[in-house]
Amino acid sequence: MLEIRPNCELCDCDLPPDSPKAMICTYECTYGSDCVDGPLANVCPTCGGGFAPRPIRPKKNWRDGKRLGLEHHPASDKRYYSPYPKEDLEAHVARIKDVPVDER
Ligand SMILES: [Zn+2]
Ligand SMILES: [Zn+2]
Repeated sequence: MLEIRPNCELCDCDLPPDSPKAMICTYECTYGSDCVDGPLANVCPTCGGGFAPRPIRPKKNWRDGKRLGLEHHPASDKRYYSPYPKEDLEAHVARIKDVPVDER
């Protein structure tokens, strides 16, 4: 189950659970689409993989007898920050961005 992290790990903008701008990598590193399309060029600073839109968890439970949705599995409030210095990040992105995501 996704944590649904609350912020972009690069610029620290808020990414609430229903944000259409929230993007995640396969490890759930989380960034806003402005950073993914801009400085990150679809390269995760940590794993080097690409991003996909984070699915929006339904607010309510829609199935009788189940405990699903944000009311039972709320979004995380633990903010994460990418630890890589600017020069390191830029070199990492430059090295990987032209390799297609399915060949990384
Ligand atoms: Zn950002
Ligand atoms: Zn990643």
